[in-house]
Amino acid sequence: MRQITVSNIEIDVEKKAIKNLHLGVYPPNGRVRIAAPLRVNDESIRLFAISKLSWIKKQQRSFAAQERETEREFISGESHYFNGRRYLMNIIPTTGKATVVLRYKYIDLYVKPGSSRKHKASVVAKFYRNYLNEQIPPLLAKWEKKMKVKVNEYWIKQMKTKWGTCNIEVKRIWVNLELAKKPLPCLEYIVVHEMVHLLERHHNDTFVAYIDKFLPRWKTLKSELNKSPVSHVDWEY
Ligand SMILES: [Zn+2]
Repeated sequence: MRQITVSNIEIDVEKKAIKNLHLGVYPPNGRVRIAAPLRVNDESIRLFAISKLSWIKKQQRSFAAQERETEREFISGESHYFNGRRYLMNIIPTTGKATVVLRYKYIDLYVKPGSSRKHKASVVAKFYRNYLNEQIPPLLAKWEKKMKVKVNEYWIKQMKTKWGTCNIEVKRIWVNLELAKKPLPCLEYIVVHEMVHLLERHHNDTFVAYIDKFLPRWKTLKSELNKSPVSHVDWEY
């Protein structure tokens, strides 16, 4: 399978003995695929993709919204995300302590038989929170040194619309619990973004100049995060 990139969207291209170009956008993560006749060259495929860009984006947005609305049930076989990877949940009954164990592509959730959805969700949330509490302090230390700023405290909470926020007056950063699902560089991008607010309150040219300087690849990380706002997304390396 070959790939082309059009306007930051990766498109799988498959050449086949067919008559017409065919475009599809597929759930759950809005993968884009074009099937093209053997005689059609790459440039024509690219132009075709460009002409369909707004439709592609619309489809992707609607899949992202659907995924966002899909409440996890915390049952075996369900997809859960951690650190940018997808894991399949296994519910394992135990009389011991409730816990989460990652094993290859599985996320094993040990809970008492008959545990409620709410309880299972809270065990997974605690696992995410512990992970973020391991990752965030070293990131703060690293960037405080580089940026010559001081963060007084950070808090983690579940947020619906924002990846992070910064209270400049008290130098406090809030980080969305959902970031535990994303690859570590995305978490770092949010931490750096919020810390830049300690140098510049607004998203103006000065702000952009700082973030360009500290994290030159921030745009890539931002677009990865925004492919689907605060939701479950497949991330393939
Ligand atoms: Zn900001």
